[in-house]
Amino acid sequence: MSVWDVLVGQASIVETLSGAAAAADVVPDATRAAVRSGMTHSWLFTGPAGSGRSMAARAFAAALNCENVPPGCGGCNGCHTVLTDTAADLRTIRPEGLSLGVKDVRELVRDAATAPTSGRWRVLLLEDADRLTDQAANALLKALEEPAERSVFLLCAPSVDDVLPTIRSRCRVVALRLPLPADVAAVLERDGISPDVARLAARAAQGHLRRARLLAADEQARARRAEVLRIPTRLRRTGDCLAAAADLVAAANGDADAANTARDEAEAEALKTALGVGATSSGTAAKRARAPKAGAKGRAMTVRGAAGALKELEKTQKSRGRRTVLDSLDQALVDLAGWYRDVLVLQLGAPVDAVHPDHGEGALRLARSSAPEQTLRRLEAVLRSRRSLAENPGLVPLLTVEALTLALRAG
Ligand SMILES: [Zn+2]
Repeated sequence: MSVWDVLVGQASIVETLSGAAAAADVVPDATRAAVRSGMTHSWLFTGPAGSGRSMAARAFAAALNCENVPPGCGGCNGCHTVLTDTAADLRTIRPEGLSLGVKDVRELVRDAATAPTSGRWRVLLLEDADRLTDQAANALLKALEEPAERSVFLLCAPSVDDVLPTIRSRCRVVALRLPLPADVAAVLERDGISPDVARLAARAAQGHLRRARLLAADEQARARRAEVLRIPTRLRRTGDCLAAAADLVAAANGDADAANTARDEAEAEALKTALGVGATSSGTAAKRARAPKAGAKGRAMTVRGAAGALKELEKTQKSRGRRTVLDSLDQALVDLAGWYRDVLVLQLGAPVDAVHPDHGEGALRLARSSAPEQTLRRLEAVLRSRRSLAENPGLVPLLTVEALTLALRAG
């Protein structure tokens, strides 16, 4: 077992990263030699969702702090603490909301300036670097321009175009691709999933390992996918289109509630307790809230500070919820795009496997009753909606989805 095992179908990437980690596994003072052999201070891991870009970055981070040769054993303390996100020399930033602000990045940059406690590498891992605000990107840029000797930045983004050119130009790019369904199925089988289920899940997930795992194991995820794939055959009248759009958005909102409500409440409670607010009487909580040596004026300021902190938390939670909704809708659109691709493949008689073979009947009906040009137009409409939701997080999702289902209507 090694840290590279999680990188499915990415042999050349594993070679690059393990080579760089081996070169970087150096005694102090050999940093220059390490740079010559492929190790650099800033890396950008790119690849579509599901390609495993953040897993690759984390595996690399583990290898950089591995205690064995060749680095990346997966079993030593260095590897283990990085993989479980408990390493003292690793800071991970994983934005849960829609954007990544300057405050988080400043902390990261401050960390980067200090030497690693292990004597190996201080690793700053930034997932979803495409969500950096401009201000945050500029703060990061300064650190990338003047890296500390034993610090390494690992940024992850869907593509190089998702980060500022000034950041991109300072990074070594590691471009991952989606693994082939056969590779994903092999991993699922290794996990103990039966071959039939593994094959179907890997194909339906279109190479997305986490999605494939979910489809193989989770009855609810399978049911949701089935509902989504039934939509195209439901769309006869305008009312059907509006109803289907409402269903999709309601399901996405349900996902957000299921994922976040309990956590939101726990966070709010914890913050209130920490701030000493929430208890309205003059009990211990009120005493805690009092700033040292504070008179009435000091108390008022503390209460204002608490209100600000609660408001900030509310903002973070709202952004997280919104992201869950958009992620859920995006997954539905990816499934729909796969289904229309299947229709097109049938119409053109192309010799490729279907993405959703278990929903082939509906696809065959539409393939026979429509022309390839219509299918292309529908496929484009799905992809346009995906882009639109991804690029304009301020849009009302229901309107975008309604426009889509109307465009998909059979006729
Ligand atoms: Zn190790």
